[in-house]
Amino acid sequence: DVLSSDYQIDRKQIQLIELLGDGQFGEVYRGILKTDQQSEINVAIKTCKIQDVTTTETFLDEAYVMQKFYHPHIIKLIGVCTEQPVLLIMELAQLGELRAYLVANRNNFDLLTLVLYCEQLASALAYLESKKFVHRDIAARNALVSSHESVKLADFGLSRQLTLDHSYYKASKGKLPIKWMAPESINFRRFTHLSDVWMFAVCIWEILTMGKKPFQGIPNPDVIDQIENGIRLPLPHINCPKSLYDLMQECWSYEPTNRPNFIQIETRLKLILNQVKTNIHL
Ligand code: ATP
Repeated sequence: DVLSSDYQIDRKQIQLIELLGDGQFGEVYRGILKTDQQSEINVAIKTCKIQDVTTTETFLDEAYVMQKFYHPHIIKLIGVCTEQPVLLIMELAQLGELRAYLVANRNNFDLLTLVLYCEQLASALAYLESKKFVHRDIAARNALVSSHESVKLADFGLSRQLTLDHSYYKASKGKLPIKWMAPESINFRRFTHLSDVWMFAVCIWEILTMGKKPFQGIPNPDVIDQIENGIRLPLPHINCPKSLYDLMQECWSYEPTNRPNFIQIETRLKLILNQVKTNIHL
């Protein structure tokens, strides 16, 4: 993998401002990038704690992946500092993690905005599907909020494009997100566009419940049993349109080929969005 030289950034152009959170490789900061034109832009900066060659290479894999994507609802790579300590500079999502944002603003959400978020993420995932990229970790915790009207998909890459599941175990800190996973991913470690579809429906459920945890308090082995026995997450109780819950349930078809693909999901969500706008609940 090579990184286009356009992405090289001089460390002197970067100023760290505040800590945003902890990533898998190290701390993530909000900062400022000074451009040639003397203008300054807000950016997110990922750091890499361990500075050996192997770790740095894996860390930079996310940049290699991100530079391939150009979509309004996918966080963009701005650049990298490739000299130690290596930095990854990305578009900043001003309002932070989606799940935290939903929880913090529980009382201020209308259904229209929630469905809009789902539609935006579906368009990002339809785009990834067209690029033959399987995300493998779709969840509200991996979406970021740019403005109240715009969410973006983040935190993919990290060698998840490879078929080696070993890297996936590492990427999720040794813990698989069982409650989001399709049965074939749990049983056979099969990750495909259609297992992404399953995960996305769990993410829709998180959004429509405004940040509830799926299967909360239920141990993973019991969740697996429930899924095998045809039990699925319940209808989110805030006025979730039936058409949306129907779509989610199709995405949770046990047989992957019975699930809709992301192009179809995007189309369906656009329709549902219009229904909600015009107050027709089908
Ligand atoms: P993990 O695998 O645990 O999710 P990671 O290495 O992928 O870790 P992120 O989750 O992407 O790291 O980043 C850690 C935190 O930093 C996020 O939860 C988020 O709060 C913040 N963050 C990351 N990227 C951005 C961004 N572009 N804009 C705003 N905040 C960000």
